[in-house]
Amino acid sequence: MAVDPVCKTPVNPHTAKGRMIWYKGAPYYFCSDDCKEKFDINPPWYAAKGPIVPGATR
Ligand SMILES: [Zn+2]
Repeated sequence: MAVDPVCKTPVNPHTAKGRMIWYKGAPYYFCSDDCKEKFDINPPWYAAKGPIVPGATR
């Protein structure tokens, strides 16, 4: 399970098709297009807030 970096909602990568962004070699999943757009505006700000997939190493 991944975590939406914008709103911290758990996101199932298998159901998040189309709402995923690759940033610096790591996949980021989003619960909604709205969150995806927010991330798109300022990726470094959201990406710096912590691990996207808790307990997982890439
Ligand atoms: Zn979200």
